[in-house]
Amino acid sequence: MADDSNIATDAFDGAAVWATLSPEQQARIGAVALEAAVAGAIAEYLRDPAGRACAEAEQIALGLLREAAIGEGGMIDRAWIDDTGLKPRVRIPSVIGLVCQTCGCSQNDPCEEGCGWHDAVTCTACVGSGEAAHG
Ligand SMILES: [Zn+2]
Ligand SMILES: [Zn+2]
Repeated sequence: MADDSNIATDAFDGAAVWATLSPEQQARIGAVALEAAVAGAIAEYLRDPAGRACAEAEQIALGLLREAAIGEGGMIDRAWIDDTGLKPRVRIPSVIGLVCQTCGCSQNDPCEEGCGWHDAVTCTACVGSGEAAHG
């Protein structure tokens, strides 16, 4: 059913991959991750001028975070790309929980008509049944 999905069968486990990174990689990623979190919190809860400055700082930090994690010198592509099949599939970060490999819905983002889990990789909307909604 999900044979043409671009979602890999296993999730991206950030904690497991983190343990494989060098101290230098961890330092680079950790520093910008902290800055992104602090900037995001300030941007959400404080008014300008701190709010404005931190909205911009968060965007910059998130860009640097992505670069540090998956750019040059970051983790290996195979950590999040499964290229063992006919075509590459990506591992979805584990924080999302179960994901339907057919439509990409998840616990906090169910299908419009409501859906539940048919099995660990397919939601009920994608098999055409009407089981209980997520949650
Ligand atoms: Zn689905
Ligand atoms: Zn669904």
